[in-house]
Amino acid sequence: MFDKILIANRGEIALRVIRACREMGIASVAVHSTADADAMHVRMADEAVCIGPAPSTNSYLSVPAIISACEITGAQAIHPGYGFLSENANFVQVVEDHGITFIGPTAEHIRIMGDKITAKDTMKALGVPCVPGSDGGVPDVATAEKVAAEIGFPVIIKATAGGGGRGMKLARSPAELEHAFRTARSEAKAAFGNDEVYIEKYLGRPRHIEIQVFGDGKGRAVHLGERDCSLQRRHQKVFEEAPGPVIDADTRARIGKTCADAVARIGYSGAGTIEFLYEDGEFFFIEMNTRLQVEHPVTEAVFGVDLVREQIRVAAGEPMEFRQEDLAVNGHAIEVRINAEKLPGFSPSPGRITQYHAPGGLGVRMDSALYDGYRIPPYYDSLIGKLIVQGRDRPEALARLKRALGELIVDGVDTTVPLFRMLLEEPDIQSGDYSIHWLEEWLARNVS
Ligand code: ADP
Repeated sequence: MFDKILIANRGEIALRVIRACREMGIASVAVHSTADADAMHVRMADEAVCIGPAPSTNSYLSVPAIISACEITGAQAIHPGYGFLSENANFVQVVEDHGITFIGPTAEHIRIMGDKITAKDTMKALGVPCVPGSDGGVPDVATAEKVAAEIGFPVIIKATAGGGGRGMKLARSPAELEHAFRTARSEAKAAFGNDEVYIEKYLGRPRHIEIQVFGDGKGRAVHLGERDCSLQRRHQKVFEEAPGPVIDADTRARIGKTCADAVARIGYSGAGTIEFLYEDGEFFFIEMNTRLQVEHPVTEAVFGVDLVREQIRVAAGEPMEFRQEDLAVNGHAIEVRINAEKLPGFSPSPGRITQYHAPGGLGVRMDSALYDGYRIPPYYDSLIGKLIVQGRDRPEALARLKRALGELIVDGVDTTVPLFRMLLEEPDIQSGDYSIHWLEEWLARNVS
């Protein structure tokens, strides 16, 4: 096992990893920008290294700075968290070339899944059901027209290098296709430096269901059921739950086995998430994330496991502690993402926290790097906390969430907490009856 791990991240996820290290008796190294000198992850880690100025390109995304921090402190492994360098295959290559262990899958697996066309081809070949669409990239408008005519409108044009919901364009009819195609390409070029796009059938009212998988890198893999992340704003998740309100045990076992078998066959190592759209009882693969997800705590809650601990164990070459037959869903868990944002426009709201009080009690987990007097810097993601609750069933989890939101105090900045207080009063949220479009439609009616 490692003696010391460096965490190449900040905020709540850096704390999450430091906590796992401490429980395992492993020393932790925080890295930080000058803007984060007073951040909680710096205070909580055993050691901290400043790796550059505020902009993340010069600090949290600086590969030489992070490698140097490892060498100075003698850290043997790097946990990337999510975002930043977590899905950067070149970074993984450099880390391994320096004799440091990357806590995550191989550079090759990250590369395959990071290119959405290759990912889809790979998954299709492994027997995972995919959204109908083009065979690979679509080079020009004429090909786009041909593909769209075959699969039928509406269609969605997506960037193969895409992420974070960018570079996606909807075309409802042949008249909209050329414009959508050209816009998607130029957005993809601007955002990712790669203008390759592909086409998929646009599903009308699907749910977003994702399967948590975990592999030992030696051909053994398990699944840890699904998360329903259908409540999204601008293709970004805001509320996640496990198990999914519309997924029964047989469906879970079936799609879970398909996913676990697929990653076992490629010798996948560590945590991964296979994302699907789910409509009329059918699953359609959209992408695989080769890292820990923001919403992993709902899975940890219902399966009673520590995914970060397991990531560290597998990266150190130890056997996986999970066996499929031991993994059973227990109760229901919900996570809400609390952002420092001002409604109704969701504009970032950085600033000083004048008062912070985290909720507690049975079945409540607050993952946050906030503290009284902390100044949220304006340079990074606006996520400031995740409130996770668990109950014996969905109604109990909802009641607990309402109770916990009532206890939470975050003063000094605007947050998305009022949004969740409103959502919990909605009959559709109470019954679990929502698709990926529900939140946008509700926001248009209620928050504008
Ligand atoms: P990204 O990597 O940018 O997050 P995804 O492929 O994961 O892109 O898609 C993000 C979201 O966009 C999905 O959760 C869903 O809401 C929507 N979406 C993607 N593909 C389709 C599709 N074929 N039909 C309908 N909605 C889609």
